Amino acid sequence: MADLQYIPGVGPRRATLLRQELHISTMEELLTYFPYRYVDRSHIFRIDEIDGAMPYILLQGRFSNFQEVGKGTRGHRITAWFSDETGTIECVWFKGLKYVANISTEKQYIIFGKPQPFNGRLNITHPDLESIKSGEETEDYEGLMPMYNTTEAMKRAGMTTKAMAKIIASALETHKAPFAETLPAYLLESLHLMDRNHAIREMHRPTEPERLRRAQYRFKFEELLYLQLYLVRNFKFRQQSLQGFPFPTIGRFFNDYYHLCLKFELTGAQKRVLREIRADVGSGRQMNRLLQGDVGSGKTLVALLTMLMAVDNGFQACLMAPTEILATQHYDNLHDDLKRVGVSCALLTGSTRKKDRELIAEGLEDGTLKVLIGTHALIEPTVKFWNLGMVIIDEQHRFGVKQRSMLWAKNSRPPHVLVMTATPIPRTLAMTVYGDLDVSVIDELPPGRKPVETIHRYDNQREGLVRGMLSQLREGRQVYIVYPLIEENEKMAYRNVEQGFLDTQRAFPDYHVVMVHGKMKAKDKEQAMQRFVKGEARIMVATTVIEVGVNVPNASVMVIESAERFGLSQLHQLRGRVGRGADQSYCILVTKPNLAEETRKRIEIMCHTTDGFEIAEADMQMRGPGDIDGTQQSGLVLDLKVANIARDGQILQNSRDIAKQIIDKDPMLEAGDNGILRRRMDILFSHSVDWGRIS
Ligand code: ADP
Ligand code: MG
Repeated sequence: MADLQYIPGVGPRRATLLRQELHISTMEELLTYFPYRYVDRSHIFRIDEIDGAMPYILLQGRFSNFQEVGKGTRGHRITAWFSDETGTIECVWFKGLKYVANISTEKQYIIFGKPQPFNGRLNITHPDLESIKSGEETEDYEGLMPMYNTTEAMKRAGMTTKAMAKIIASALETHKAPFAETLPAYLLESLHLMDRNHAIREMHRPTEPERLRRAQYRFKFEELLYLQLYLVRNFKFRQQSLQGFPFPTIGRFFNDYYHLCLKFELTGAQKRVLREIRADVGSGRQMNRLLQGDVGSGKTLVALLTMLMAVDNGFQACLMAPTEILATQHYDNLHDDLKRVGVSCALLTGSTRKKDRELIAEGLEDGTLKVLIGTHALIEPTVKFWNLGMVIIDEQHRFGVKQRSMLWAKNSRPPHVLVMTATPIPRTLAMTVYGDLDVSVIDELPPGRKPVETIHRYDNQREGLVRGMLSQLREGRQVYIVYPLIEENEKMAYRNVEQGFLDTQRAFPDYHVVMVHGKMKAKDKEQAMQRFVKGEARIMVATTVIEVGVNVPNASVMVIESAERFGLSQLHQLRGRVGRGADQSYCILVTKPNLAEETRKRIEIMCHTTDGFEIAEADMQMRGPGDIDGTQQSGLVLDLKVANIARDGQILQNSRDIAKQIIDKDPMLEAGDNGILRRRMDILFSHSVDWGRIS
């Protein structure tokens, strides 16, 4: 049966909705549209039993007192009371307000949701709900009930989760033929996986929890396996076919720098990463490596030594940073040292003068200029190198994939690429997002660093805050005060910073305060920044423009205002601006008093750890992998349907190991049963760009 409209309970209108809303137009697509959750319908709670620690629960009762609040503002929502014989709990909707208008105060409902504390009370946001007709018994709700996602438009047409369950149930009855297998028999056997035919039926109509778990495992594994096969195959392809410039020698420049200019012993992690890079560039293939290392872990030095490897082998190198401030800072840090070993170096940014530009262009084209440091300006097609061999990109997540690929075109063979990021990505996520790149990690800070002490303060406890800052200022230290950038209300954001600037000047009359925000002219911003870098200004009030890279080791206090508005990784980045010297540093998270549970958790994590990987992991657990910084531009869209990278790390690891074994033995997927894999990959990835070719 080809057409979904003939399934009992569907019809032409619903068939159209399925196609438009969920891209489901075949039986196969319908029956692999799996529930996002199962509800144990065997227990309905009483409202007076509820506490804030409960997971998702079922309640049965009636709605009353619908109210629309905050119309025209960001907090626009509808609230209602939900009551049974034992009590009342508030329900809240921020989205789907039209749909809420159809809820009847006459009918009984079963609702499903997670009670959460808000402003000192419990409420449930966006409960799933089902009306119960009078006389309808609750036998429908026994056992594991599948829940299907449906859209707003579908709900309006009566296609609720329950309607979907009915449609799929009747489709399963109509479709008697077994579903074709999509994994080779040898995998099913060796991994004891449930076959696809039984697994599909089990997903929709679970017979028992253990069998459902096996069915879910099978689909999660399958989904991750195909993704990993794709990544591993691209990775292999790149390794075998992309020729790079070989750098056979470690020469004079590297050695001179190492012996004359290094002020300290490299950390074990820095040495390991340099060995990994050395192996890459010596291999004759093109390096395409991601370097992850927390703020302050010493990535710049790795970058410098890597560029010297290129120069030692007769090539030019460039280092690209996302902002002018950062590029300038890199240049200031590096050019003295480079000069000492006799390597020429220049800075190229948007504000480089025409005359200097011409000099740089000349040096680049005749090869006398060896190292170029700069911003996006480096990518411009007008920037031509004599022999570019190494590209280093700092703070990767600010650059798009496309921009990076433009650097490849700057030589006859693609130069080696090292992408550095201070936004650690959880290991499982890296395996997927960067599954076709080599990844190095600096997981060790230079010795003698004291972890930043992080303290949470409410914004009505200002005296203590001012006292703390004063004591650090008196010791000669410097202070950052950061305000959030409020996207939906920029004006207010700048008013906040400007007010903060005035307040700070008033509170610290003996100290020079500067202000930096995105709306300032580049010149003024630069000047304020320089004042702070030189130590003339002791306090800097800023928006998040300082987030990335700025290095002022004398700064010991980072005050983050309205910290509840920042995400975990941003808080972590900001905190990384202090604690760069040997003395104790502090990060003060200032928030309003009443925090939502999620926010409180974020603040707690920040106070509890300074480990960027731990924070990234927590971030992913809380927000899901799609929202983690660095994934959006990675090129690989994370639209997994069954598996969840945050929770299924172990299955991901298994699938990656097995994908490697398969591709190692049979790279073209030709042998025996592997034809199934090859044909399925052609279908699944027919629209994908070959990301393996782009760093
Ligand atoms: P990031 O990884 O954030 O770019 P940086 O490269 O800016 O870190 O390094 C932070 C600071 O640590 C710099 O002042 C740098 O000179 C110093 N540093 C780097 N490596 C070492 C080391 N092995 N021992 C001591 N200090 C180091
Ligand atoms: Mg850096």
